[in-house]
Order: sequence, then C-alpha cells, then structure tokens
Amino acid sequence: MSPELVTIPARGGKAAQASAGQHIKVVNTHGTQVVDAWAFNARDLTEWMSMEASRTSFMKLAAAVGDTFVTNQRRPILTLVEDTSRCAHDTLMAPCDRWRYRLLGVEGYHDNCRDNLHSALANLSVVIRATPPSLNLFMNIPWTADGLLAWGEPVSPPGSYVVLRAEMDLVVALSACPQDILPINGRTGRTTEAHFSIQ
Ligand SMILES: [Zn+2]
Repeated sequence: MSPELVTIPARGGKAAQASAGQHIKVVNTHGTQVVDAWAFNARDLTEWMSMEASRTSFMKLAAAVGDTFVTNQRRPILTLVEDTSRCAHDTLMAPCDRWRYRLLGVEGYHDNCRDNLHSALANLSVVIRATPPSLNLFMNIPWTADGLLAWGEPVSPPGSYVVLRAEMDLVVALSACPQDILPINGRTGRTTEAHFSIQ
C-alpha cells in the first residue's frame, strides 16, 4: 500500500510526527515551489535541526545524498537518502517572515514561512518559542568562489522529490514558501502546493 500523500497547501504549512527509521518524502509537485523544512526532537522541542551544526558536520554548503543533518546538540536527525531535484537545497537563508516582507516593500500582512511553521506546529498542539533556521528544499541559491550569493530561479523538475530518513523520533514541519517578490519560486510570482508522505 502506498503511503498517504499529504498536501502542503500553497502559501501554507503542515507538520507531522515521524518515528526513527521512517522516511519523509517531500515532492515538488509543480517543480517551482520552495519548501522550507524544520525538524525537532519529539521528546525535547528545544533540540532542533541546525543548519550551522549540519554544515560543520558534513563540511559542505548543501547536503549531498548520504549526508546527515544534525541538531543543535550535534545529534543526527535527518539523512538525505534520495534526491531527484537537481538542486543544491539551500542551508544559508533564513525562513521568510513578516519583517522580511516589510523590508521588501509589502504593506499589510503577507503569508510567510515563520508563521506557517508556528501555525503548523499549533495544529499538533506543539508550541516553540524560537524560530530555528530552515532547510530550504528546492531553493536555488547559487554561490560564487568569492562567496557571493544570488536569488536563483527554480531548477527542479515537476514531481521531483527528496527522501529524508528520520534518525530519531521527530516532528517535521514543512512550509510552501509564499515568496512572490523574489524569483525563488519562479519569475511569475506563482506559489503552489507541494506534497509529502511518511512511510
Ligand atoms: Zn518562505
């Protein structure tokens, strides 16, 4: 039986529990959608997947298949076991938030990954006070030898996916990034749904 495919609504978020050894498959259904990802130790939500500790562990700017993300206590939490996206998933950029959109000239409320994280966790009756750095799946942030970064456009084919293995019992949160001002979700400003399954 194939596992249930859960929709991450366009501009929204979803969270779920996964047990150690389970596989979380995140599908870029339409090929243009960045999905911000977080993971938390299910028994201690102050222990979360850390981008800075993970780069220290695998000594790369972006994980390759076989690399393991670690927590802010340096313990394995997610391993990238399969990847059809052709994208170096960004580990450098902070998740978007209301202040980011204000700096980009937006007046009034704009959907954002930070609020998506906390509302998705709230649906599981989970509250955390901080907003950890996100693993920005399918987000194309190219870098130069001089260390300069750019807002790349999407490069992942529709239906491409990553599979992450849970290395501990965890809570995973995923946000279909509503960024429609910068071109990270494509130049048209279109933001779409994405999907995931846990098996
Ligand atoms: Zn975002």
